[in-house]
Amino acid sequence: MECLFCSIVSGKIPALKVQDDESHLAFLDINPCSSGHTVVIPKKHYPRIEEMPKNEAEALFGFVCELEKSVLKAMGTDYCNIGANIGKLAGQEVPHVHVHIIPRYEGDGGTAVQGIVRMLSKKEDLPQIAEKIKSVLGGAAAPEEKKAEETEEKTPTGAKARGQEEEPKPEKEEKQKEPHKRKPKKTPERELQEFTHKHQDDVLDLGEARNL
Ligand code: AMP
Repeated sequence: MECLFCSIVSGKIPALKVQDDESHLAFLDINPCSSGHTVVIPKKHYPRIEEMPKNEAEALFGFVCELEKSVLKAMGTDYCNIGANIGKLAGQEVPHVHVHIIPRYEGDGGTAVQGIVRMLSKKEDLPQIAEKIKSVLGGAAAPEEKKAEETEEKTPTGAKARGQEEEPKPEKEEKQKEPHKRKPKKTPERELQEFTHKHQDDVLDLGEARNL
């Protein structure tokens, strides 16, 4: 059986379409959470957002950002939540990538996206969690560092750019280039200390938050 949203794209199932382009379609949610609740989909079928090629995911987000302005203007509000349910457990009912634009209104009784789940969690666990994610990312240089390295490789400067032999670099500079010497790695305990110090006034224990 064809996917529900693919059937909307092909016109087999009707929908209140508000905008489309070659690759995207936006229509009103049949069971709206708020007035103006709009669903945006890529016309091509992907079950989950991370299965989309990067350029298509970027284009989808660009489409959403543009449309959000018009939806809010039409609905006379400055507020909305934008979100996607990814996977059954997170509430995804239709296995075709889609982004919800949910306009928000004074006194609508809703909450922030952080309100959709509240697990008990300890502040002390945060550095370890950050480490876990970073290790899946490959423990490589942080994205900004990576970008700088790539630019450095692509755009030779100085003597190299002029096609001349490069002067040997002073030993100190060479040493700085060794990745493990560039930035001393912080231990999870050190990260926690710094994190707690920086946010001591504004970080709320999730346990406390539950009782608010
Ligand atoms: P999700 O739970 O993120 O998979 O959301 C799917 C959304 O699609 C729900 O909010 C439904 O109300 C909406 N929906 C399902 N069928 C239709 C339809 N035929 N036209 C418009 N919206 C629909």
